Amino acid sequence: MIGDYECIGRAKDERMPITLTNAVLLNLDPIEVLQGAIRIESDVISAVGSDVIPAVNDETLDCNGAVVMPGLVNGHTHLYSALAAGMPMPRHTPKNFHEILRFIWWRLDRALDAKSIEMSGRIGAIDALRCGTTTLIDHHASPNAIEGSLSRLEKGIADVGLRAVLCYETTDRNGPAGSEAGLHENRRYLDVCRQRKNDRFAALVGAHAAFTLGDESLRACVQLAADYRSGIHIHVAEDPCDDAICRETYGAPLIPRLEACGLLAANRDGSTKQVGAVGAASIFGHGTHLAPEDARWISAQIAALAHNPRSNMNNRVGYAPVSHMERVQLGTDGIGGDMFAEAKHAWFKACDAHSPSSKAEGPSREILPNGIVGMLAHAARVAGDTLGCRLGTFSPGAAADVVVTDYVPATPLTGENASAHLLFALGSRSVRHALVGGQWLLKDRRPVLVDEASIRTEAVPVAHDLWARMQAIPEE
Ligand SMILES: [Zn+2]
Repeated sequence: MIGDYECIGRAKDERMPITLTNAVLLNLDPIEVLQGAIRIESDVISAVGSDVIPAVNDETLDCNGAVVMPGLVNGHTHLYSALAAGMPMPRHTPKNFHEILRFIWWRLDRALDAKSIEMSGRIGAIDALRCGTTTLIDHHASPNAIEGSLSRLEKGIADVGLRAVLCYETTDRNGPAGSEAGLHENRRYLDVCRQRKNDRFAALVGAHAAFTLGDESLRACVQLAADYRSGIHIHVAEDPCDDAICRETYGAPLIPRLEACGLLAANRDGSTKQVGAVGAASIFGHGTHLAPEDARWISAQIAALAHNPRSNMNNRVGYAPVSHMERVQLGTDGIGGDMFAEAKHAWFKACDAHSPSSKAEGPSREILPNGIVGMLAHAARVAGDTLGCRLGTFSPGAAADVVVTDYVPATPLTGENASAHLLFALGSRSVRHALVGGQWLLKDRRPVLVDEASIRTEAVPVAHDLWARMQAIPEE
């Protein structure tokens, strides 16, 4: 049994204030550019701007005119794939998305044990930190190591120092005992977070997707979330198979099933403002195959639809109707932790989809660079709401999650063109230092709290054994 994990590091009140001087402050929420300094006291930002002067005893860092940004948030990921790079290919080439799950990802997650879960968390967190990603919203699965898995994942992430919102993806694909164990792990971790009450880790109720959950299990997930005043983190319409299997197996289409279980509650015609409490705190992954009107209706009543363009391309599932979505945040869906790369791909994909020669149907609002950066800012808002702190902004009182880059603009940088700098010039290679909650986690591109070289060496045999177990599992 895994014990509760205490975050390491000095007590926050023992730390000297930190002032980052001579910085170009690129705020994400709202998008604006300020010149000057940012002062951090304890775990929050206390002052920002040209009139901020370090106190005598402050720790100071001269940023030499480089861009300083709020830490980025990955709005939907699966750290359990952090040890997947280079893993053996399936014996049979998947012909569709369902086979990609069955031949690849559902064999990988079944091979995970406690040790590889924790190592996946540690390696995934290091990868994210090096890219300036300081908070992760994760969706975890390990069907043969469910109990305690979220605490093992948390341990790996906490060693590196990041924040995270975790859940276990409940599913019926491993029988009733598997779904009950998934629900139990979500409940256990909700209790851990409720009792600990810090802003480093928080819980949502995880559900894989409606097409692998019967009505009873779906309702049980929503009830658990309601009991804890939490939300659901679930994949929705990533591929047409979500709706098709719902019809074939459960006798109803996808969206009516989500309505029937109480996850979607707003009236379609907008005649009332009624929104379900669980839905309002929920994150839906993808929405790739939602009709434009459903994408708008659903995204207006939940915390966010998570858009993962690189994963959607990798899995050949198509392009989400992003321009119709009201609340949308960016995630990587397990394709690493680089939110700069995800933002660039979101931009290129949007341009390609809305090019004059595209065959996209129906009216769509044009997506602008500010819209892509807005997806980064929204992930920070949602993560902050769930964790109980303010993320993604330099406002005084916001969490001191700060990324110092070495990017000194060679062209004018203003609030009007900041998003274009982020999409076309900044990148994860620009990330030099990072703090979370006023604590240094990355200095000169090296993680502060862990010995990265040792961890990478330790990870290799863990990955080797994980892949061997995976290959021993027959393809369905
Ligand atoms: Zn996902």
